[in-house]
Amino acid sequence: MKAAVFVGAGRPLAIQQIDVPRPGPGQLLVRVKRCGVCGSDLHLTEAHAAWQVPHGTVLGHEFAGEIVELGEGTSDIWREGDRVAALPYVGCGRCRECLNGYPFHCPETLSLATGDLIGAFSEYAVIGARETARVSEHLSWEQAAFTEPVAVGIRAVACAGITLGARVLIVGAGPIGLSAAACAKLSGAGAVVVCARTDRHADRAVAMGATEFLLNDADLRRNFIRHAGGPPEIVIECAGVPGMLDLCCDLAEKRGRVVIAGGCNGKDPLNVLTPLCKELTFRFAVCYTIREFALAERLIASARINPMPMYDGEVSLHQLPARFEELRRNKDACKLMVNLDA
Ligand SMILES: [Zn+2]
Ligand SMILES: [Zn+2]
Repeated sequence: MKAAVFVGAGRPLAIQQIDVPRPGPGQLLVRVKRCGVCGSDLHLTEAHAAWQVPHGTVLGHEFAGEIVELGEGTSDIWREGDRVAALPYVGCGRCRECLNGYPFHCPETLSLATGDLIGAFSEYAVIGARETARVSEHLSWEQAAFTEPVAVGIRAVACAGITLGARVLIVGAGPIGLSAAACAKLSGAGAVVVCARTDRHADRAVAMGATEFLLNDADLRRNFIRHAGGPPEIVIECAGVPGMLDLCCDLAEKRGRVVIAGGCNGKDPLNVLTPLCKELTFRFAVCYTIREFALAERLIASARINPMPMYDGEVSLHQLPARFEELRRNKDACKLMVNLDA
């Protein structure tokens, strides 16, 4: 099969012919239909990344496809031809984290996102039967491939403990920030403000459910209060760049909550006196549980979340290497997808 392989920082991904992986017990083989390109794919292949994936890695963790082969012990639930989206983690199925439905934390987990297993920038991928969600007939493959990033938004909002009418500020207007905005609105927040350093994603934020988009500039605090009637009780950090922790703490209401969902690949120094004097609560959020992942599919299928304002079109696998390098420079894009049928 063809796959886009990471062959070293500073070099474009290489389209190579590699063996189709075989599904082991409890696993499924899927024919990948669509796979989104994620900011983390770019970060994990950067020359100066604090953490870089090994050469030979096939990335791609935001995907949907069709089951083409069943591993042992999976035929009670799954059939060939089933439309699915899957977590990019295959847990052991026995440990406490797996039994709690959180395979990201399983000590033996195998990740498609970081190279333990072949990722979905390829024609086929092996996934875990437990970690797989059925995709509604009504969904396009593009909508289905948004299950993963929407699940990240669900997790962030679950960690935020939003109450009815809450004033919520989301920092960052990428796919995670926009998904979190949609989920915060669904959770009953009164004001959901997305802020970013440029307004290039302002229309997308409002289309996803934000009650307002604001520029992250010197007037942000004043503009937030003008819109929401008070400072944010909950701040969700989805930008993942240094300086954001201080910003979140500066803006948050006393005894507010700061949820960090942006993956800053490096250090972000914090002036401790601000959260101390405000008695802020910090909470970090990573990935999602199996249940949150399945919920993402249902929210999209029932049209309670429309992820398509994030969509920027598709490329073929052969076009991916050049576009992948372009995405490192072009910050206008939100979510580009690879069409493995093209
Ligand atoms: Zn991602
Ligand atoms: Zn486990």
